[in-house]
Amino acid sequence: MLLIVPKNVDLQGDWWNQSYDKLPKEEEEALWAAFGRRAYNKASGKEVVNSYQSEDSGKWFICKCRGEIANPPVITLRSFKHIVRKSGSGEHSSDCDFYPITTPQREIVRSYRQKQRNTAFNFLASFDRSETDDQTNAGTGRASHHTSRSKLGTLLAEWISKTPIGWREAGTPRLSISPQYEELKASASEIWLDTNVTLSDSLCAFDSDLDQFKEDIFSAPANWSRRRREHGIYLTRVGGVGRQKIETLDGRVHDVVGRLAIFGETDGSDRAETISNLSARQPYLAVILVGRRSPDAPATLLSAYLHPCVDRGDLLLVDSDLERITLRYLQDIQDSLPPNDSFDIQKPMFDLDAPLPRRPIKLTPEEQEQLDTRDVLVPDFVLWPTSKSRTPLVVETMGYDKADYRQRKRRTQEKMRQKLNAELECHDFHQPYGTSQEDRDEDFINRVRAHFTAETDR
Ligand SMILES: [Zn+2]
Repeated sequence: MLLIVPKNVDLQGDWWNQSYDKLPKEEEEALWAAFGRRAYNKASGKEVVNSYQSEDSGKWFICKCRGEIANPPVITLRSFKHIVRKSGSGEHSSDCDFYPITTPQREIVRSYRQKQRNTAFNFLASFDRSETDDQTNAGTGRASHHTSRSKLGTLLAEWISKTPIGWREAGTPRLSISPQYEELKASASEIWLDTNVTLSDSLCAFDSDLDQFKEDIFSAPANWSRRRREHGIYLTRVGGVGRQKIETLDGRVHDVVGRLAIFGETDGSDRAETISNLSARQPYLAVILVGRRSPDAPATLLSAYLHPCVDRGDLLLVDSDLERITLRYLQDIQDSLPPNDSFDIQKPMFDLDAPLPRRPIKLTPEEQEQLDTRDVLVPDFVLWPTSKSRTPLVVETMGYDKADYRQRKRRTQEKMRQKLNAELECHDFHQPYGTSQEDRDEDFINRVRAHFTAETDR
């Protein structure tokens, strides 16, 4: 949200207690369209800039993306046609549309596509190849739908999507933990790490096997091509996270020497998340790359990707703790309906709008531009009716109350709805105001039930 303020306003003072006007929504959207991170219509912002720069002696805009803090990000107007962040003013939140991102949106969007069938993940190039990979750079960081998905993240998404774990069929009992592991191990043979090496050829799925696994990678190597260095994937459930450390559910602590990325939904503010905050979302399902950093070094845990799962007995991936609650309600509703008038629950893993992983289609420059600047569309849940006379339902968990978050969600939800020809229900944890969460939950449950039980005229 942008506030219209006079030039040279006191930014250290309590600007948030002054009664400044908000920039009308249409005008803010015109500025996004022209100058935001997903800019697609350069011309649209000019008129807005022009009118506010002409007014009195000109205006500034305070961006509220970081809330009510001293030294907020301030937008100033230039040459009657473009905007800049006032030098010395605060940075925009990393989820704000005015935050300058170094990864272009098209790269983010592309990372949420499914891989081409049967192409190999290129995790570790052989030592004699000059190309470097970023798998071994240290760092513990947060991943979200607003950042590009790492290769390990894509591997986990591909892998889960080949199993029934992310697809809860109506009237089917839920799998306990060992059949879920069996499903994962079975589909590992369809994922390629190299031309002749599948994930199942180089996989460790049991914590107690890890030491042997590290040795086996080199003493009994799979049939790696010369382009790649021997490596493997360690799959485990993680209960705790520290700086460059993970703790498995059975209490083993491992160092991760390179990048440790943890998926977490963000509220649009840039609050640095503490490790203890991240641990609060445990348990996680983790995929960890195991290999050597140099030709004579022993195998280590090179990099890891962690995504929260429902609980220690359920490997379905969720984006937040609140999604766990939404899922629980959805499963209760699913169980309470007769199977032929119920629904399957899907937890989508990929961008809805991504082209199917077939041969690339030739796009016009305009089509390419459109594809490159749009949002990633990954619904929280999709409910697929078992009865053909009903429409699918997109279910979204509204976990935060911030205006930026809600604006972004509204924008993507409408696109998802249209794309799937579906209806939309939100499980809201903040609105409407003045009601208890119990009442909001009950309303949500009733609306979802009604969608699948109301009389249809078809
Ligand atoms: Zn901002």
